[in-house]
Parts: sequence; structure tokens; C-alpha cells
Amino acid sequence: MISIALSKGRILDETLPLLKAADVVATTNPDTSRKLIFATSRAGVRMIIVRATDVPTYVQYGAADLGVAGGDVLGEFGSEGLYQPLDLGIARCRLVVAARKGFDYERAVRQGARLRVATKYLQTAREHFAAKGVHVDLIKLYGSMELAPLTGLADVIVDLVSTGNTLKANQLVAVEEIAQISARLIINQAAYKLKRAAIQPLLDALTKAVAK
Ligand code: AMP
Repeated sequence: MISIALSKGRILDETLPLLKAADVVATTNPDTSRKLIFATSRAGVRMIIVRATDVPTYVQYGAADLGVAGGDVLGEFGSEGLYQPLDLGIARCRLVVAARKGFDYERAVRQGARLRVATKYLQTAREHFAAKGVHVDLIKLYGSMELAPLTGLADVIVDLVSTGNTLKANQLVAVEEIAQISARLIINQAAYKLKRAAIQPLLDALTKAVAK
């Protein structure tokens, strides 16, 4: 049995068509069902639905053989035990530093000011600002990052931006790009060796579907 870990939302929506091209179709629609394990049309392949940030954990421990995770999540989690053979080119967005309109980020950086940064991407933000030589106090948030600069909790946020509408609606602007993000296929390294005969055809079919 091969298990593929997916998270609801953009990743599920944009991965299902790729899996369909690889002849993997859930027998019940995972988007509308509250079930967490789904049999598929491909014998010996099932899907499991987990939180986006839990996908690498399931795959690292081998509870899922494959998974689809955003580059943002993988950047925080690291890549131990994970083979990352394929950028799926889906769920594209950018990880940026954003500030209130009128906050002179460049000047603050030039002057060596200590910045308060609110984010759920602590590891990525720490590495980014350390590489720039900027001193920061990192404040961990779990959501609604946009509120932090508006309420004085932080000077800037590090967050994902897709259309830019959320920033705009909150009078925030992106002042620096940290990374271009997309979702990648991840495979448990041991499973890839031990279950190669089952995994390789899936990987080949997905590679073909992505190239189309
Ligand atoms: P937008 O208004 O389209 O720029 O989207 C911004 C909001 O959606 C922010 O709250 C982001 O955290 C979230 N977001 C944007 N892109 C993604 C993505 N690929 N995965 C998860 N969350 C995202």
C-alpha cells in the first residue's frame, strides 16, 4: 500500500488533477468528505488528508510514503529523510517581508534598527534576517499576520502573498521578497528504496503530468 499525504485547500485542489493524470482518483471526493483516508482508483494507492504543516512529518516517519508540501512549509521543517524529486509548480506564491505603508524599511535596515518581526515562519525569517545582518525580535503568530503591524505588535511581517489583495486591504506593502514558493512532491527516502516498483511509475506519471 502506498499512501499520499495531502492538505485541503490549494494543494488538494491543484494536486487532484495531476494525480488524475497519473490514474489516481479518490473514490470519494476528499474536498467535500470529512473522512481522512481515501481509497483511489489505482490499486494499492490511498490518499490521507492532514494539516499542511504536518505533511512533512507524516512522510518523514513513513506514515505516508509520498506527500505534497509547500516550499514555505519545507523551508521551516527542513528536509531530513525526505527526497524531493519534483517541483509540481502549483500553489505558487511569494514569501515576503511586508510593512505598513509609510514604514521606511530600507532606512530602518540601513540604520541597523532592531526590527520586530511577526510570522509563523520563524526559522525562515531568522535565516533571512541573519544573512542580511539585521537584528530582529521574532514573534510567533499562527494566523492573521496582517494585524501585527497595524496594532503595533510588530514593525514588519513575513508572510505568503499570492494576489496581494490581503496586504492591500490592510494598507500593507511588500518591501522585500524572500522566496518564490510552489508545492513539491516529497517522498520518504526509505520507502523510495523499498517500494520503488510501486512509487517509480507514480513519480514518472506525475513528472509527465507536470510537464504538460
Ligand atoms: P493574497 O490576498 O492572494 O495575496 O493571499 C494572501 C493570504 O493568503 C495570506 O493570508 C497568505 O498567508 C495566504 N496565502 C497566499 N498564498 C498561499 C499559499 N500558496 N498557501 C497558503 N496560504 C497562502
